[in-house]
Amino acid sequence: MRIVNLNPADDIGASAWFVGVDGFNLLMDAGAHPKRDGLSATPMYDRIRDEDLDAIAISHCHHDHVGTLPMAVRYFPAAHVLMSELSGAIVDRILHNSVNVMSRQRDELGIKEYPLFTHKEVEGISPDFHYFPYFREIEWASMRKIRMGLKSPTLEFLDAGHTLGSSGIYVRTDEGSVFYTGDVCFQDQTLLKGARFEDLEVDTLIMETTRGNREPTPGFTREEELERLVESIEKTLARKGSVLIPAFALGRTQEILAQLALLMQEGRLKKQPVFIGGLGRVFTEIYDSQAKRTYRNHPDLRLTRDLNIVVLDRKQADTMKLTGGRIFVITAGMLSENTGSHELAARMMEDERHGIFFVGYTDPETPGGRLRESKIGEPFHYSDGHGELIRNCEMLNFDLTAHAHREELLEFAIKLKPKNILLGHGDSDSRDWFEAQFKTHAPKIKIYQPGPGETIEV
Ligand SMILES: [Zn+2]
Ligand SMILES: [Zn+2]
Repeated sequence: MRIVNLNPADDIGASAWFVGVDGFNLLMDAGAHPKRDGLSATPMYDRIRDEDLDAIAISHCHHDHVGTLPMAVRYFPAAHVLMSELSGAIVDRILHNSVNVMSRQRDELGIKEYPLFTHKEVEGISPDFHYFPYFREIEWASMRKIRMGLKSPTLEFLDAGHTLGSSGIYVRTDEGSVFYTGDVCFQDQTLLKGARFEDLEVDTLIMETTRGNREPTPGFTREEELERLVESIEKTLARKGSVLIPAFALGRTQEILAQLALLMQEGRLKKQPVFIGGLGRVFTEIYDSQAKRTYRNHPDLRLTRDLNIVVLDRKQADTMKLTGGRIFVITAGMLSENTGSHELAARMMEDERHGIFFVGYTDPETPGGRLRESKIGEPFHYSDGHGELIRNCEMLNFDLTAHAHREELLEFAIKLKPKNILLGHGDSDSRDWFEAQFKTHAPKIKIYQPGPGETIEV
């Protein structure tokens, strides 16, 4: 069995894994690198361009896993495109949004190769995508090979608990089995329940390592972290300041909205409008419409019904009065330029009454990352558009990750007892941590850290 890491970078990067076995070829994920621009953000598809690809399976609809799917389809027009039913409810919106973002970046940053694909292309390919419930065994060989009478290998999507539709991908062939974790969360979030990675017999594990470089805080629990967030929101509103929670439109926004809805139902927070972004609204509606098919807590909670959600347009973000205690749950999570959260944060940070609360990862080289490093009363470079700003407002960080903690992933992998483990989707210090742990606690497992474009034979 041949496995090729197509991530063009040595960090978390763009997820894309090629698996070739017994004359059958599969691509798992077709991501885009969130920190790179243009073609350098795309997986190394050229490496596999001469392969007779049978199928493309998508783990989930975050940009770093699905953001170049139309390009992959262009390389391999005959390949089936497979994903979970719940991913099927969102994939179109994600890809169309990517076209919009890339078109804007072409105009604003002069990236000539953008957009890498068009709305028309997305409309042309998406009707042919295939959607499956979790835990359904799917034959993924090409039609041509099946007509030749060849026996197809199978795959299953297993609920990964990370975001709506997220899956681990369990591939079984005559030559052995591969399990790819995708992004995984083992603990329950407010809405989504934890991963169901059960009944696996795995020869080769391909695993994410996002949090390998994060040392656990002693005594940390998610419940206490949520409680701390709730108290911080209460305090800010009590002093008539506004709360900004920068959040990704898919996943994080809905988890925070669910928390706010529960607090308002319990009477801990006064009922009041919650301002979100347009794309956040789209995914919130989809979370609601798919609630019955989702393995989740609070199955009867409907965010669009149980909360007073107001879509904030970009102009309002520049002009709206901010005192008097408003709540914003707005993209982008890292306060990237030309987003609602970027402008709001710039307006809020000078006033000590307001609170900006981060609930997810921010790259240090983004406006959000720089704001997180800022010290009260000291000027810092926020963004090219706004230049230097001074922060007087409260700024807090909350660890409400949708990724497994490293000890949980380590325990999962050791219990699984695979023969081989390929470490990916993490910075090099994250992968190194896992490698060292496996060498100590499970020395029989062969550990690989395939670099960009590297092939591993197992
Ligand atoms: Zn993800
Ligand atoms: Zn990811």
